[in-house]
Amino acid sequence: MNPTILVTGGAGFIGSHLCERLIAQGHEVLCADNFFTGTRDNIRPLLASDRFELIRHDVWLPLYVEVDRIFNLACPASPIHYQTDPVSTVKTSVLGAINMLGLAKRRRARLLQASTSEVYGDPREHPQREEYWGHVNPIGPRACYDEGKRCAETLCFDYHRQHGVAVRVARIFNTYGPRMHPRDGRVVSNFIVQALSGEPLTLYGDGSQTRSFCYVDDLVEGLLRLMAQDASVGPVNLGNPAEFTIRELAELVLRLTGSKSRLECRPLPQDDPVQRQPDIARARALLDWQPTVALEDGLKETIAYFRKLLAA
Ligand code: NAD
Ligand code: UDP
Repeated sequence: MNPTILVTGGAGFIGSHLCERLIAQGHEVLCADNFFTGTRDNIRPLLASDRFELIRHDVWLPLYVEVDRIFNLACPASPIHYQTDPVSTVKTSVLGAINMLGLAKRRRARLLQASTSEVYGDPREHPQREEYWGHVNPIGPRACYDEGKRCAETLCFDYHRQHGVAVRVARIFNTYGPRMHPRDGRVVSNFIVQALSGEPLTLYGDGSQTRSFCYVDDLVEGLLRLMAQDASVGPVNLGNPAEFTIRELAELVLRLTGSKSRLECRPLPQDDPVQRQPDIARARALLDWQPTVALEDGLKETIAYFRKLLAA
């Protein structure tokens, strides 16, 4: 029988794509979300399936459900959202991990933790390998997210060593695609919405900082493979190694949208990482996984999504 799967944060950007794939694979899916950044619209088509169940739930609280697999994704991911209420962000990461690991322990379920490249902070090693311990400011404005996620990783490994819980830790690098929140402040959604609305593209700093952007379908495939394999608990980097400056991204968005918007420089936020690129050797070897969608192709899909959204 197909395992029953819980996805926390399932109404969010990545979570909704993951739920969609799991339903298509024939699983029973429970989606638990408090709708802080996720929306019912993201999962509306899934509500028609009798294998899909939506629970309004905050992961600060324990959850008693009978599931075999848990994808723990609940946590705001964009700097604007996670910095709005930093204390809540820490609680979501830490209490959420404790509650979901407790559930995994009781159920002898397998738990995949959505960790992040932010555990590497503003990295001094490039590209980032899983062995790198990172360079994180523990008291800065990004710390609620970075340290919250680092503590969640710690909890995963301690529950694994101390209680034998089967964990899988994915370090997700910048991911983009349809269903990103149009106002969540992340660079891809910001630039596309600004370009389509004829507003200036807000370039923080001089735009020379780099990121490596992974299309959401590739990321979801990586998450599914990591959960399915028995060889390693991780951590495993999941991201697209193709690295771009933020200025290059802005220029690409302008070209693909045909927008006449100009670039407008704004101050660089504190502790903004200078460069980021995943080393995905471990994911290639362990999961036989690598991204297949080039940035230009993924952006075209994402632009089409936002065009429709803004026209509605
Ligand atoms: P998102 O904000 O779209 O999704 C997060 C979801 O979690 C939302 O539906 C939100 O309502 C829900 N949520 C937040 N707090 C909650 C709580 N206390 N209880 C229950 N639900 C709660 O973000 P996303 O981009 O889909 O990110 C999903 C996960 O992947 C997050 O854990 C994030 O840290 C991780 N991640 C994402 C990226 C990325 O580039 N998108 C990169 C690294 C890691
Ligand atoms: N950024 C930008 N303009 C924006 C939003 C973000 O120049 O309107 C920059 C931001 O400073 C960072 C990069 O784009 O260097 C990625 O930002 P995002 O918030 O998407 O993700 P993160 O910083 O968490 O990687």
